[in-house]
Order: sequence, then C-alpha cells, then structure tokens
Amino acid sequence: MPQFSLIEDYSLDIILLTHCHLDHLGALPVIAERNPNAHILTSLPSKLLAPRMLYNSHAVMKRQRDELGIKEYPLYTSSQIDALEKRLSPMPFDKPRIFDDKGESLEITFYQAGHVAGASGCSLTYKHRKIFFTGDVLFEKQRVISGANFPEQPCDTLVMETTRGNTELTPNYSREDEIERLRTTIVHTLEHEGSVLIPVFALGRMQELLTFFHEWNKANKLPKVPIFCSGLGISLVDTFDEISRKTGLIHFRRKILHELGVKPFRKRLKAGETPDEKAIYLVSSGMMTENTPSYTTAAALLGNHHNTVCFVGYCDPDTPGGKLLASQQNDNFLFEALDYNCPIRAHIEQFDLSGHANREELLSFAQKLDPRAVVLTHGDPEARDWFFDELIAYSPKTKIINPPPGIAIDV
Ligand SMILES: [Zn+2]
Ligand SMILES: [Zn+2]
Repeated sequence: MPQFSLIEDYSLDIILLTHCHLDHLGALPVIAERNPNAHILTSLPSKLLAPRMLYNSHAVMKRQRDELGIKEYPLYTSSQIDALEKRLSPMPFDKPRIFDDKGESLEITFYQAGHVAGASGCSLTYKHRKIFFTGDVLFEKQRVISGANFPEQPCDTLVMETTRGNTELTPNYSREDEIERLRTTIVHTLEHEGSVLIPVFALGRMQELLTFFHEWNKANKLPKVPIFCSGLGISLVDTFDEISRKTGLIHFRRKILHELGVKPFRKRLKAGETPDEKAIYLVSSGMMTENTPSYTTAAALLGNHHNTVCFVGYCDPDTPGGKLLASQQNDNFLFEALDYNCPIRAHIEQFDLSGHANREELLSFAQKLDPRAVVLTHGDPEARDWFFDELIAYSPKTKIINPPPGIAIDV
C-alpha cells in the first residue's frame, strides 16, 4: 500500500488513473473510498479494464490470506470495487476538460501513452502553469495499440517515468527483429520435441503475443501445438474485444483465441513432470512470481534441455524470474515455494519487447518540452541517476528532482 498517511490531512478533488497495471491501480479502491467526493478520471479502455484487474487481485489476495496467513488481505471488498467502477469518469484523448471551483479553474487533458491498452499521459494547466505526467509510456507502436501521442509544446514541470534508464539499447536494435528471433526460437524448440514457456503480464503482453502467434499461424510459420493461456489473460481478451469494437483505440478480436485453439491453463504440471505433448505456455506472471502458472510451469520444464523459457519483459532482480535470468546453464535453481531444486537444463532466452520507452527517446522528449523542472519517477535508483546526469549535462539551468520516497517536493 502507498503511504496514504502522508496525505490524510488533505481531501482530494481529483484522482487521475493513468492505466491498469497494479502498480498504478492496486490501491485505488482504498483511496477512492477515503475521498468520496473526488472526481476519478481515466481513459475509456481503463474504465473497462480496471474492475476486471481489481476483481482478480481481490481473489488472489483472498487466496493469499488463506494460504499465507496475511491477515490484512484483501485490502478492499468487492463492493468497494463496484463503488469505484461507478465513479470512474472516462476521458477522451486530446480533449481538455475544465474543472471550476471557487473562481479558479484547472484544465486536464489525457493523451495516448502507448505502453498498454488505455495508458495515458496527462497534462494539468492551472493559472498558466502546465504540468505534464508521462505515466508509463511507449513511443513505438505495437500490434494491439499505437505508440504514445504526446504534445510537444513546452511545459513548466515534467513528471517522467524512467524505467529503462539503466538499460543500454543494443546497437541496431529493431523490435521486428526481436519478434522474428522469438518466432525462430519457438519453432526450433518445438521442432526438437521441446515445450516453450513464455512468462507474461496478463494485461497487455499476453494479448500482444497472441497477436504475433495469430500472424505466424496464418502465414504457416508456427507449428500447430496446443497454446495454454492463464485465466486472467483470457478473461481480459473479452474486454480487449469490447474496447476494440467500442473505441477503435486498440486492434484485437476475441476470435484469435478460437483460430489459434488456445486452451485455458487449468491443470498445473508437477515439478519435473514432462507434459503429455509439446506445447506453448503463454502464462502469467511475467516475473515468475511464486505459485503463479509461470512459476509452476517453469518447475516442470526447467530440468529438460529440450525446453525453452522465453522472457519478453522486465523482471525485478529479486523475483524468481530475475533470479533465473541471473543464473547460468547447469546451475541449480531452487523453487523455494515448492521446495524443489533442479539443475537448469532448459534454454533461457530474453527478448527485448519492452512496453516502456527506451531512455534515449525519453531524454529527447524531455529536451523538446524544455521544462523548468523535471521530476523523475518509476525507475530503480540507477535508472533515475542516469536521467539525472544526462538532463543536468544537457540543460544545467533545469531543476532536476530525483525525489526520495515520502518527502513533499516543491517544484
Ligand atoms: Zn504499466
Ligand atoms: Zn508502472
């Protein structure tokens, strides 16, 4: 939970939800209830996605309360989710909305941020001062959504994400080449009687990967094997279909599941078990969090050199996914939650298909906006440090703020 105690003396007038990944959405039912009169603004796709994500999170927390004895879970009730759903006020992209109060006015505009369906950057103008929040952003276009469409007029304060500040871009990098490398890795594994595990976020990555599979399938470039997907990702497919039909903001249709013959991931494999037939497991969580489908499937596949694990997104170093990426072939890998230890025989591959902008693009975006102050958010300390050094070197007069957690800052 965020440290809401720091803002308990204030009543909030407006809450902006940039997108529905849980690091942004997860505590919204709680703060919304504490501020019953606040306007809660988000994009239309996010309004449709938020309840699904929260209901899933609620179910996971209930299970964790029972299995792990975490007494404070769930952090909110299902009726709090319902109450929140009614209050989410959809904002179109690129159209300002003005809020007046006591003779003062605040103008808010949402802009498409790429990253994931519904993701938004927001600009706030108050007394001729303009603040721009990037939220999580990807400038490059994906199959399911377009890239960010941010304004490039100057602003006074820029609040910017820095997720990839510590990631150097590979020379001659191309997303299309990475997608093709992923395809050949999958095909090679299947042709050599192995199975493929791709740990993914249920929101965004899974639907993007399904779109690749669908393209390859149509072009006869993917062997026909069962594709297993975990529950939340499949249920989000319905919402993606609805968003696609209602808004045209994303390109995704439910029928892809049928055409690919996707099967729900129901029965978890036992540690060390060889699946009955070779298959593709496109399952969450993306970082192989303990006891998720990707974690238990890894425990089944890791000990066999025919199999491959393909990571397609960021893994925190402290998660099982991060630890597996840091290991070497033939090291022993401990699945702590299963009390199972096995040597790494499967191939471990990583593909750069990130949902976050690379650091050079974000840097040049910041330089174009030429703000008086930049506030760095959402990255590890090393990632924020890189942006701090680059921005200071480029524009010594700009105030660069690398805010410590829990401290109010003055811009
Ligand atoms: Zn995100
Ligand atoms: Zn995020």
